Amino acid sequence: MAKNDNNSGVYKCSFCGKSNRQVNRLIAGQSGYICDDCVKICVEMLETEIKEEETAISNELPKPKKIFSILEEYVIGQEEAKKTLSVAVYNHYKRIGQKKRKEDVELQKSNILMIGPTGSGKTLLAQTLAKILNVPLAIVDANSLTEAGYVGEDVEDILLALIQSANGDISKAERGIIYIDEVDKIAKKPGANRDISGEGVQQALLKILEGTSVNVPIQSNVYQQMQEMVTIDTTNILFICGGAFNDLDKVIEKRIKGKALGFGANIASKEDKDVGKLLKDVMPDDLLQDGLIPEFVGRLPIIVTLDPLDENALIQILTKPKNALVKQYQKLMEMDNAQLIFEDDALKAIAHEAILRNTGARGLRSILERIMRNVMFEIPSFEGSSVCTITKEDVLLNQSPMLKVDGGKSLKLKK
Ligand code: ADP
Repeated sequence: MAKNDNNSGVYKCSFCGKSNRQVNRLIAGQSGYICDDCVKICVEMLETEIKEEETAISNELPKPKKIFSILEEYVIGQEEAKKTLSVAVYNHYKRIGQKKRKEDVELQKSNILMIGPTGSGKTLLAQTLAKILNVPLAIVDANSLTEAGYVGEDVEDILLALIQSANGDISKAERGIIYIDEVDKIAKKPGANRDISGEGVQQALLKILEGTSVNVPIQSNVYQQMQEMVTIDTTNILFICGGAFNDLDKVIEKRIKGKALGFGANIASKEDKDVGKLLKDVMPDDLLQDGLIPEFVGRLPIIVTLDPLDENALIQILTKPKNALVKQYQKLMEMDNAQLIFEDDALKAIAHEAILRNTGARGLRSILERIMRNVMFEIPSFEGSSVCTITKEDVLLNQSPMLKVDGGKSLKLKK
């Protein structure tokens, strides 16, 4: 500590020992002094520390282009969605890394709304993003949510799911991603006879979307009627909401038509009828028409639209991604010494059948399961190697494929 010679009117900096006569200013604390030179040095040290921490975070955080290129490995098509999401999640995590300085511009949280048909890759995108960023992910279905107090899942349960996904590590959970599926199902419906209103659920979600501290019961001891609570702050949790919004294209079309008529132009062109294209024109107001409340839409400032998947995209989904279904079946068969071949026409027929089912890429797995069931039952029992070729007829007529076994002999698998 500085020794101050109060009698002679000399005070000394407790850090460098210079006297008040040697420095411009000496600031008094409770039990010592600090001079302006030492204050400057301390500020510089703290600034460097903050900069180093920020650089470390931004070095660790993959850049938007890198995020995009990894998404490309797993998600077919949806280029615009992948680009928007890459930028949005990059900015989100950069924002978390930003150390708050007084003079800093405050970066606001930007949750995301994904609009696209069933089976077009919304959940897959959220899952892949969480994997790329190495953050915990919770996937919840908005259908199961209720306003607090009703029977069903409370909004706190969403946070509990995230804490579980982070293996109980609260600070990890506080940087995680929550994907809320089917948010179009909590739209407020005029005249709907639901005892639990969608609007109430939207209201309940507002606070956590924005950022708040929530007490979440993590364990309950039924016998002692005790619950252990943890507090989780949702400020840095990225919320991605998804929904098909099946009638939204009509709302958008009506708005565009109205405008076109207002300016005396022709009614919507044929192109406007294309659902994917129409959805790209979505405005926050259209979502209000579709039953979301303004405060809810306001907390989802980034809107991403996904295209319906066509036959070509479905064929690619079957074969191209790292974990493509065809690759998975081929790997399984290879382990039993069998080569599995899908003829191009067979892949086309599978994609066509999935389109008829109207569930996007979701239908592909069950169609393939049906085709492969017998093959996977029979092949492991064969001695030696074999080649199994799936043809268009096998798919269309639901028949068992031909198998070529060692020595070139062909045999039809039993049905
Ligand atoms: P959504 O959430 O849009 O209803 P999902 O993401 O759950 O659809 O898709 C279901 C499955 O279909 C995924 O697990 C994935 O295997 C496949 N799939 C859907 N869309 C794509 C896509 N664009 N690229 C690759 N696979 C896809």
